[in-house]
Amino acid sequence: MNKNKYCLWCKVEFVPRSAGQPQKYCSKLCKKAYEKEVRKIGIKLLNLESPILNAGVKDNGGE
Ligand SMILES: [Zn+2]
Repeated sequence: MNKNKYCLWCKVEFVPRSAGQPQKYCSKLCKKAYEKEVRKIGIKLLNLESPILNAGVKDNGGE
């Protein structure tokens, strides 16, 4: 049975540790990078959802 997993961030195959929480990333660096990106996207989505911040875009004839 293949227990190897693929890193969510760099798609590298890695062997997860048997103990502790299930790993989603090959390294802590990837976890950090992934979470940083998720946060960035989250803020972007938040800005898109905000009518106040969108008002300025609409005034400029934005899509
Ligand atoms: Zn990785």
